[in-house]
Amino acid sequence: MAESDDSLSRMPSSQPPEATLDVIGGRLAEVGGHEVVRVLPTRARRTVGAWCFADHIGPRYVTENDGENIAPHPHIGLQTVTWLLSGELVHRDSLGSEQVIRPGGLNLMTAGGGVAHSEEGVPGFVGSLHGIQLWVAQPSSTRELSPAFEHHDALPEISLRNAAATVFVGDFGEAGSPARRDTEHAGVQLTLGVGKTLLPLETSWEYGLIMLSGLAEAEGEKLAPGSLYYLGGRRDELEISTLESGTAILIGGVPFQEKVFMWWNFVARSREEVEAAYRQWRRDDRERFPAVSSRLARIPAPRPMWLTGEN
Ligand code: MN
Repeated sequence: MAESDDSLSRMPSSQPPEATLDVIGGRLAEVGGHEVVRVLPTRARRTVGAWCFADHIGPRYVTENDGENIAPHPHIGLQTVTWLLSGELVHRDSLGSEQVIRPGGLNLMTAGGGVAHSEEGVPGFVGSLHGIQLWVAQPSSTRELSPAFEHHDALPEISLRNAAATVFVGDFGEAGSPARRDTEHAGVQLTLGVGKTLLPLETSWEYGLIMLSGLAEAEGEKLAPGSLYYLGGRRDELEISTLESGTAILIGGVPFQEKVFMWWNFVARSREEVEAAYRQWRRDDRERFPAVSSRLARIPAPRPMWLTGEN
C-alpha cells in the first residue's frame, strides 16, 4: 500500500504542470547588511525547474564606503548565477577565481561537494547597483563532484517584437547560452519595450517570471517587481503587454525530479548532509571548504534550528 501511494504521488511530477498564473509575493531578506527581495523559495513554491532561489538586489545607490560586503561563505549542491542590470561586483572563491562582473556578463559558480566565495563591491565604484542572484539545484549526478567557476562577458541575444532577450543560461527561442548547465533549464533577461511581446516557451517545462523594473500585464494580471509570477507548464508561448518599459527575468526548466532539502547556503537532500557541511564550515575544514582570498572575515554558519543543546 505504501509503495503504490508513493508511486502515485511521484507520477505527477514527471508531467509538466498545468498552465497557470500564480502571484507569489516575495519577502524582504538581509544579505551582507542590505535588503533584498527574496521571491524564491517561498512557502508556496520551492522550485521552478531546477531554479531554487532568487534574490532581487537593489536598485540601490552605492557610495565609496557602502559597497557590497558579502563575506566568504560556503555552498554545496547548487550553482550561483549572478546577473546585474547596473553596477559592479567582484567575485572571489576558494578555487582562486577573482572576477569582476558588470551588466551583460554572467558569473556562474558550481558548488558541487563544496566551495566558498565572497561577493564584494569594486573599490571606488559609485552608482546604482541592481541585479539578481539565482541558484540552480544540482542533480544527484553532479552535486557531489568538484566545484567550478566560469565567467561569460557576452551572451546571445535575440530580438522579439517590442523586446530583446539575452539568454544567460540554457536555450530560449533560437539562442543558446554557452554556460554550463546540469539539467534542462534556462534563464533569460527580457528587456521589455511598451507594447505586446510573445515569448516562445517549451511545453514540457515550467516557467516563472520576475520583474526587476517596469510594469507589464499577462492574462489580466499586472506584473510588477516584488513577486514571482509562476506560469506553470504546457505553454508554447506567453503574451506579455508592457505598460511601462523595464526588465524581467524568465526562469524555466523541466520540473526538478528530486526533493531538495535547503538550509542556509546549502542545497542537500537530508538534514544529515546539511549538518555535516555546517560542522565542516564551523571548524574551518579546508579539505571541504578551502580559504577565500578576501579581506573580509568568514560568515559564521547559524546553527540549524533542529540542533539543540550543543555548542
Ligand atoms: Mn553565495
